[in-house]
This record gives sequence, C-alpha cells and structure tokens, in this order.
Amino acid sequence: MKYIYDLSLEELKEVLKPLNVPQFRAGQVYGALHQGVAVENITNIPKDLRAWLKEQFDCNLPEIVREQISKDGTKKYLLAYQKTDLIECVLLSQNYGNTLCVSTQVGCRMGCRFCASGKNGLVRNLTAGEILAQVLLINRLNTTDKMRGVTNIVLMGSGEPLDNYENVMRFLQLVSSPDGINISARNISLSTSGLVPQIKKFADEKTQVNLCISLHAPNDDLRQQIMPVAKRYSIKELIDAAKYYFQQTHRRVIFEYSLMMKDGQPFNCAVGQARELANLVRGFQSHINLINLNPLNFDKNAILTPPSREVAMTFMDAVIKSGVSCTMRKNKGDDIDGACGQLRLRHLETENN
Ligand code: SF4
Repeated sequence: MKYIYDLSLEELKEVLKPLNVPQFRAGQVYGALHQGVAVENITNIPKDLRAWLKEQFDCNLPEIVREQISKDGTKKYLLAYQKTDLIECVLLSQNYGNTLCVSTQVGCRMGCRFCASGKNGLVRNLTAGEILAQVLLINRLNTTDKMRGVTNIVLMGSGEPLDNYENVMRFLQLVSSPDGINISARNISLSTSGLVPQIKKFADEKTQVNLCISLHAPNDDLRQQIMPVAKRYSIKELIDAAKYYFQQTHRRVIFEYSLMMKDGQPFNCAVGQARELANLVRGFQSHINLINLNPLNFDKNAILTPPSREVAMTFMDAVIKSGVSCTMRKNKGDDIDGACGQLRLRHLETENN
C-alpha cells in the first residue's frame, strides 16, 4: 500500500482527479497532513473522502515505542514503522530554535566502530515520506502556544543519507516545499560518513543544504581503523569532494570530529594530530566541529572512550592555533542513551533476551 506522506501536492491532485472532487480538496488534505493532523481528523473535507484516503493509502505516522527526556531537555524517541522497523529521532531545543535529528535508514551498513546504528547492519531504506513523517509526528507532539515546532533538521540519525540517495533528495524537496512545512534548505544539515561519488552528485544538485562530513581521523590509516568506508575513499578524495561541494553551492562544509581515547591514550586527539587535521582542511571555507565521543553505554568492553576535558580543550586550541575554524559541540542527552542508535539497540537486545 502506498504511503500518503510520499506524495507531493501535485501528485495528490492527480490521485484525486478521478474522484471529481473540487481541486481545492487536495490542498486541504495536503495542508492538514503536513500539520500532523490524522486523516480521520481532517474535518473540513467530506467523510467519504476521508474513508477513501484511508482505504487507498497507508496514512499512519510512525508509532512511538519509547520516549526519553534528558535533564537538559533533549527528547529522544524510538519509533516503529509497520510495528517492527525501529528508528530513532532526537529533538534538541536551542536558543535559535528546535532541531530534529532524523533517521534515513532502518539500521545502517556503514559499520562505523563507534556507532550503535551500524551494529546489526542495514534493514532497509526509509522512503521520503517515512523520513518526513518523523518531522510531522514530532511537530504534532511538541508544538504548543509556547513552543515552536521543528525549525531545523539534521540528517544525522541512523543510516547513511547518501546511501539512500533518491529518497533523501525527495525528502529534501518535500520538507522544504512551500506547499508543506517549508523548512529552508539553509536550516537543514546532511551528515555523511564520506561517500565520495554521492557527495559530488549532491553538490551538482546545488541545494543550499549544509554538508557535514564525519572525518574523525587526520589520516587514512587511523580512519580505516574506525570507519570501513575509509578503505573505499581516501581522505584526499574526501577533501576534494568537500571542496567541490563548496565550489558548487558556496556553502561552508563542516567536518565532524569525535575525540576518542584508546587504552587510556589519545587515539585521534593528540596535539600532533590536531596539526595534521588542520593541514588537511586549511585554505578553504570549512569548519571543524569537535565532539567528545558519546560512549556506547551498552558496551562494557568498548575500546574507544571519550577524553578528559583537558585533552579535548588542548586539542581544540592546537587546531585553532594552526589557523583553522574550530568549535566544540556540547554533548546533549548523555543521560538518555544519547549516542546514535543506542536506544534502538538496547530495545532490540532486551527483546531478544
Ligand atoms: S555513524 Fe552514521 S554512517 Fe556510521 S554506522 Fe552510524 S549511522 Fe551509519
């Protein structure tokens, strides 16, 4: 059965044509759906049209399996599509607005060593409408007279967005369409583990979306130890692709860099590595976003751990002194399985036991 949230307004108009309903009905249905109203509650359309839509389409937003609220106000949701396909999304309230981190795949096949989402591989891609449905559901739950809904979106939840390219491109069109919730591309960030050909293809789309690249290491040898994708594409190829993105879009590229310790020693966060990192990106419009590794709370044998604040600050100072723009991102939601995929993995493991 087709998912109603996959449709654009034009496609919905086409779908309704054979019913001979007035054209404005499509706008009413589309507007209500994108405000998070369930089909049965769209009371300004005839009852038989509501019944017909429910018969023809899957009209359900994902189901909430679990919700966690952090002391800092971060809300994490475990959601299910068709009962079994679990994903996470996270709502962060900041002074400039509310950012929703959405998932683009159920599971992930990239297998980054510090991430729980990739632990059991890829289950399936989400459709564009299923990604959009996360935003609509969270808007429905969190928009009040006192609180705005989602103002910013980051594609940084489970899944590699560029491994689900067509659906993600369509999601970007749907979510930024004036017919729907109209979130500007400049308020959307897409994070990739570094699929070089897809980054170039995305650059050619010439959107204004912010591109974030998970770098996490200053050289190929180290990167290959934590990110299997690094065996396919070298850091040089990745930086060239980032430069191409800037050339095509004039948007500054963000490099994400999680600071990690191994066996009590800096794995990627020694002062020499800060200089190595700065040398890679100096000279073009980019920014380094440091974050202390969000530890995998479920994994007692985790080899990679976060550094002390002192080590982290020394690393950041060394990058800045090397002439590169760099800030430290505050870890949010640490007390609620904050790391990507952790809530889902914990739920799956509990079910298996
Ligand atoms: S960090 Fe992203 S790309 Fe890597 S395994 Fe996790 S979800 Fe996939």
